[in-house]
Amino acid sequence: MKTITGTQIRQTFIDFFVEHGHTAVPSSSLVPGGDATLLFTNSGMVQFKDVFLGTDKRPYKRAVDSQKCMRVAGKHNDLEDVGRDDTHHTFFEMLGNWSFGDYYKKEAIAWAWQLLTEVWGLDKNRLWATVFKDDKGNVPTDEEAAGFWRNQPGFLKENVLYFGRKDNFWEMAELGPCGPCSEIHYDRGIKYCDKQDQPDHVCHVNGDCARFLELWNLVFIQYNRLSADKLEPLPATHVDTGMGFERIVSVLQDVSSNYKTDLFTKSLDVLRSLTGQSEKEMLADFTPYRVIADHTRSAAFLIADGVVPGNVGRNYICRMIIRRAARFGTKLGLEEPFLARVAEAVISTYGSFYPELEKSRGAILDNLTREEVRFARTVETGTAQLQNLLDGIRSDKGSKNKSGNQAAYILDGRRAFDLYATYGLPFEIARDIAREQGLDVDEAGFRAAMDDHRLASGGGKAMGKMGGEDAEYFAGILKDFQKKGELPNGVEYDPYLPTQITGNLLALIMDGRMVDTASVGDQVSLIIPKTDFYIESGGQVSDTGYIRAVDGSWEVEINNVRRPSAGVIAHVGEVLLGHPKAADPCVAEIDMPRRHDIRRNHTATHLMHAALHQVLGPHAVQAGSLVAPDRLRFDFNHPEAMTPEQIERVEKIVNDAIAADMEVISKLKAREDAIAEGAMALFGEKYGETVRTITITDPLRAKDAVKQEDLIAFPTAAVEQQEKYSYELCGGTHLDRTSDVGMFIIVSEGSAATGVRRIEAVTGRGAYELVARRFKALKQTAAALKSSVEEVPQKAENMQDEVADLKKELSGLRTQSALSTFDLQLANVQTIKGVTVLAVEVPNADADTLRALADKFREKYPSKAAAVLATGTIVISVITEDLVKEGLKAGDLITGIGGRGGGRPNMAQGSLPDSTKVSETLAKTGKAVEEKLK
Ligand code: ATP
Ligand code: MG
Repeated sequence: MKTITGTQIRQTFIDFFVEHGHTAVPSSSLVPGGDATLLFTNSGMVQFKDVFLGTDKRPYKRAVDSQKCMRVAGKHNDLEDVGRDDTHHTFFEMLGNWSFGDYYKKEAIAWAWQLLTEVWGLDKNRLWATVFKDDKGNVPTDEEAAGFWRNQPGFLKENVLYFGRKDNFWEMAELGPCGPCSEIHYDRGIKYCDKQDQPDHVCHVNGDCARFLELWNLVFIQYNRLSADKLEPLPATHVDTGMGFERIVSVLQDVSSNYKTDLFTKSLDVLRSLTGQSEKEMLADFTPYRVIADHTRSAAFLIADGVVPGNVGRNYICRMIIRRAARFGTKLGLEEPFLARVAEAVISTYGSFYPELEKSRGAILDNLTREEVRFARTVETGTAQLQNLLDGIRSDKGSKNKSGNQAAYILDGRRAFDLYATYGLPFEIARDIAREQGLDVDEAGFRAAMDDHRLASGGGKAMGKMGGEDAEYFAGILKDFQKKGELPNGVEYDPYLPTQITGNLLALIMDGRMVDTASVGDQVSLIIPKTDFYIESGGQVSDTGYIRAVDGSWEVEINNVRRPSAGVIAHVGEVLLGHPKAADPCVAEIDMPRRHDIRRNHTATHLMHAALHQVLGPHAVQAGSLVAPDRLRFDFNHPEAMTPEQIERVEKIVNDAIAADMEVISKLKAREDAIAEGAMALFGEKYGETVRTITITDPLRAKDAVKQEDLIAFPTAAVEQQEKYSYELCGGTHLDRTSDVGMFIIVSEGSAATGVRRIEAVTGRGAYELVARRFKALKQTAAALKSSVEEVPQKAENMQDEVADLKKELSGLRTQSALSTFDLQLANVQTIKGVTVLAVEVPNADADTLRALADKFREKYPSKAAAVLATGTIVISVITEDLVKEGLKAGDLITGIGGRGGGRPNMAQGSLPDSTKVSETLAKTGKAVEEKLK
């Protein structure tokens, strides 16, 4: 039998549902767009969440997709299963078919059955279905689904099983859409059971052994949860399904492990070519291979979605899995960086379905290798430190064990965090190592320490929830309006052609609740039916401005605008005048000069992005962006610092593009068309079906690029064809022409994160201010130097030389004068245990002077003598050779009096802790010598 490939299986799934009227939708990014509460996309549902909530609409009612998922953090974390079992990954693909208020249980079940048994030919006797039966008895049993299952041709009626809330009831969150689900399990046969030796094991569906494999989960969304014990039926019901792609491939390819499918063949082959092990040897100790294959695949997909290794949040996860894979590599004897080799295999396996992998090949390989190299530098010290801690615990364990103290086995989370902060040893690896020795690490303590650290360094919470807490409240407000027939489509939003907007004040919110009125100084949120204030997104900051009563009786200064939940826009600000009241007619007015500065910076950002591609190459894609009125900040992928020449070139190219007075055109397009045309899309952004594109074109250049006759015959098409200077998907506000940017100046270039550079730049008014400020400073410098502006560099250089000469001369003079008074001090020696000891403070000297004095001391006292000389906090000590032979070291005298330093045995240099207490410190010299001579 010819085995079907993984690629074919994925395609069959998609084709099957397309034939049944579904639209094939691409996977969304692993970084959930517009959902700050979730670290990673962890199921197919994430990109459709708003559709279920009713706040987003799609042009289709049926969809099919293969979604990239990560389950390595938060509620869904399968990291600990990876390497141990054959069915859980950190990264995996979830195949899904979707109905948004269209078909329901009957079709979903019939199609699932048809696909599995007719298209793929699975043995009907081996398939089991579970349906929901409430263990609390509150929600009706899903007999509907059970009935449909029993009706499928060839389905064994007794293969429907009932399970409770834990297994068969799905909820999106504590409140909101939810419903029963029905899982399809596949019986792989008794030989797969890995628990036969456990007497109390019952070999059954959900019995936790490897015999029954959960393949596919069909979720039927039919309720809205109003409270912990109150459900209401939804007006429209939905279907959300998720099938584990790797699992179905393992079944169809008839192999005993996801890792034995062709999805992993190339990766494991590469690994074996590196270790030199045979397949049999590999299978005998499969864990390291599984971990490396899994983690490398995850890392490659993460990096392709813009998540590079780093210290917090998503970036921490990327770092952690790379390091964990590298550590498992050492178990296989792989010392040199090797993950890039495995990643090549991943790209080759997945590149055709997920083109982002091919596009990011350079970034993937580069980031992996760099991270391995970085880790290799510290891992040994880190693990050695960890081992010390673990040994400590173990030696304690014996005594505390008797008292049954669990903590005795667990490494304190804060200590584990120190290991991460100091040696880059991720928690998960510390835990691996501890567990290999029968110990454990306190995870909550680690997370708490990490969060504290982030808060202390001003970076905000490292993981977990970020904002969005009041979403439900605002969604409720919108619902109330809609019940009254207001805001049928939510607040209207059109920031692109701002005019003064007039309307009634719909709601006034203060301290998290609606109020009738407010007073001067109050912080309020205002909702009006329509707004042109831009809401922060794509890096561009929100507009600011004013909302005032039409009759002038009140005024609120707006300093932020946000969308707390879909369809609601809140203008946030402070009451400056009067008492705003709900229902008052009012006018909203944007701060237009500020908006204009923002537009300049946004258009300049696109010009610079294009210029970076010209100068550095296509890998220099955007990794982050801030478009503010006073500056722009742009992060992009690039492995090393830009040279001054590269920076200058980018600046010049952008200024040339400004001078070329190019047109900036915005257009709405189908997302797929725009991307097919090469428009740049950004990682982590959530794009709808229709996208806004920003094209910057040069009509003069275009004239040459387009044939004259085409221009006449197909004017629009020809313009579309013309060479675009820049082409991006972007929702921001832009200029009409590039010349309006005025001037563009790069202020700084530096590192933002591993493999990511950051440029800050200014334009327009900001650039003028910068130039004016710098020019003023230059003029002041010229005046101080008594030179012309042009001569400043030469003059400054001359002056530097002069200063250096003077310093040298001064030092010589100081030494001379010190030497001449030193003769007197040389008499002030003490004798301690037969050693001549001198300790003096020399004012106004430097290290050279002290050394000259030290030489003089030794000339005068060639044997059995020691001296400590200090000026300010600089200290030098010398001892004669015979004392060195006795085992004394010059450095000991410095440390002996509380200083720090070192050097040769007969002469050392260092520093004293306090320049105001030099004589007290030196007074300890005699004692120090005495101690050392003991
Ligand atoms: P399991 O109980 O096996 O962990 P689950 O109940 O967590 O699965 P769902 O959240 O229902 O799974 O996800 C839908 C499907 O995705 C599952 O039926 C399974 O086939 C697959 N799946 C879930 N988690 C993973 C994972 N970590 N790696 C690979 N496939 C997975
Ligand atoms: Mg699970």
